[in-house]
Amino acid sequence: NILTLFPEMFDIFNHSIIGKAQDKGLIEIEPINIRDYTLNKHKKVDDYPYGGGAGMVMQPGPVYRSYESVTEKIGYKPRVIYLTPQGKVFNQSMAEEFSKEEDLVFLCGHYEGIDERVYSLADKVISIGDYVLTSGELASMVVIDAVVRRIDGVLGDEGSSVDESFYDGLLEYPQYTRPAEYRGMKVPDVLLSGHHAKIAKWRREQSLIRTKRWRPDLLESANISASERNFLDSLGAVSYTHLRAHETLSDLVC
Ligand code: SAM
Repeated sequence: NILTLFPEMFDIFNHSIIGKAQDKGLIEIEPINIRDYTLNKHKKVDDYPYGGGAGMVMQPGPVYRSYESVTEKIGYKPRVIYLTPQGKVFNQSMAEEFSKEEDLVFLCGHYEGIDERVYSLADKVISIGDYVLTSGELASMVVIDAVVRRIDGVLGDEGSSVDESFYDGLLEYPQYTRPAEYRGMKVPDVLLSGHHAKIAKWRREQSLIRTKRWRPDLLESANISASERNFLDSLGAVSYTHLRAHETLSDLVC
């Protein structure tokens, strides 16, 4: 359930993996137009800020009533995720946590934001990063997309979200597909070897190296063994530069 002033923006979810998940009945995405819950004939949802200042502020009434339309429909109070740049920055473990809920309500602001009193509706206050968007719709789409792909059955191959970046606190290993050589750039031999154990070892090492190089902050809380920590220490300093396409990370590190 998405409380929004722009329900038509969510047509984007009728496509691709999320569209298919809806067709299969695995999820249901229901935008609710906050404007339908105004009590004035012009369907005005905003007003000037008390105390003065630039811009307009969304009034609490239509937001509260749109939320109550959801609770009346489903018969209980689902968790409300309020999207605002002032929230805690969204991450994969929150996506995991939200994916276990039966129902969720996403609240999208617009203009200068929403009257402060809507915080009492919110169970989670979430930002998608330290920058300001014009409205909460794009932010809620980011969160919804990340949540939905963690729901069983949404991705055809369940393994594809288990191996991904952040699943165990590391970045994903490099991926290649055909052809085996493109413009002089070769796929690492190990991936063509058919030797599953060696491939798994190579991938794990590449994940560790890549994380140390690009997101060393993740290593502090990543799920890695003592021997893997020793392996990372043995690499020494890994500089933060981008790869040229034909280099593998191990080429650069060693
Ligand atoms: N005046 C507000 C402030 O300074 O905190 C910003 C309001 S912003 C222009 C309008 C709406 O966009 C917000 O109410 C929120 O729903 C959404 N929004 C903007 N940036 C966001 C972000 N980084 N993460 C989540 N939502 C965001």
